[in-house]
Amino acid sequence: METNEKAAILIIYTGGTIGMREDPVTKTLAPMKFGMLLDEIPELNKLGYAISSITFNPPIDSSNMTPSIWAQLARTIQKNYTKYDGFVILHGTDTMAYTASALSYMFENLDKPVIMTGSQLPIGVLRTDGKENLITAVQIAAAKKDGNSVVPEVCIYFDSQLFRGNRTTKKDSAQFSAFASHNYPALAKAGVDIVFNYEKINYPKNKGVLKINTSVDDRVMILKIFPGLNRRYFESILQLPGLKGIVLESYGSGNMPTYNWMINAIKKAAKNGIILMNVSQCPGGKVVMGHYETSIELQKAGVISGGDSTVEAAITKLMFLLGQNLTPEETKYYLRNNLKGEIEI
Ligand code: ASP
Repeated sequence: METNEKAAILIIYTGGTIGMREDPVTKTLAPMKFGMLLDEIPELNKLGYAISSITFNPPIDSSNMTPSIWAQLARTIQKNYTKYDGFVILHGTDTMAYTASALSYMFENLDKPVIMTGSQLPIGVLRTDGKENLITAVQIAAAKKDGNSVVPEVCIYFDSQLFRGNRTTKKDSAQFSAFASHNYPALAKAGVDIVFNYEKINYPKNKGVLKINTSVDDRVMILKIFPGLNRRYFESILQLPGLKGIVLESYGSGNMPTYNWMINAIKKAAKNGIILMNVSQCPGGKVVMGHYETSIELQKAGVISGGDSTVEAAITKLMFLLGQNLTPEETKYYLRNNLKGEIEI
């Protein structure tokens, strides 16, 4: 890895615990202004990079994240794309994996790093994990080899590991290791050195101008299957007016009950043009429809396998594709296939 001492990095602060402060009276955590946040980490200046920052107004707890803020992030990066070598997005951990997944689909011809990070403890707290996360995220965003960015992808860096954003899931709300990528190896590990897993990083095949496509359709649902799921509730969710797509969170390798009423409700929804995707509740492994009898009927009904994708990657992919004015057949085709490394085919 070349050190890129002249690197220009843009830090975009959306909010999250990293920049929160405790209210002395109510003791609740709320986001603070970013100017103050940079004051907390003078170490950043020691990297020697030209670091600029943009603060979203107001900074938010990522539980309040919306598709319009995803679009605002994509536009901010596009607008500043040629001026910087890499981008770091500070974001709350709660919905970071959704934003990372959505952004990965929204960019076309991305050839610079977009590294998302945050922390479990606010940056002003003595034992914060935020400093290491931010400093290393900035270094990764600046890393170049033979003049090209080492990681030209939307990633999440957290607790010494760099993951492809659309492979990542929040797994822990108390440990510093908040994220995991169960079905795809880490793209880098930061110990004494930052060691990149070059073979697993996606490099753009063609060079081109960065394009963004921020249209999404929110007429979607996630429905988790569980033993005892009430028939009337299930049927009425699948008949919600205007519903365009649904991610069914199934068991194990993609199994669901074979009750007639459930299969019939699914068949009826599919007939009515609703796109159904099957993603497993198991964070590791993949959906293989037809492996067990309990998933053959789903396959016959036209349910699409989400393979080894995360729920976050699946729902945002569904929202993104439904926003693209594609035919149902095209939507299904792209759902089955790999857009940005989110699924193994
Ligand atoms: N609630 C916070 C958020 O997602 C949690 C965090 O940042 O870790 O914004």
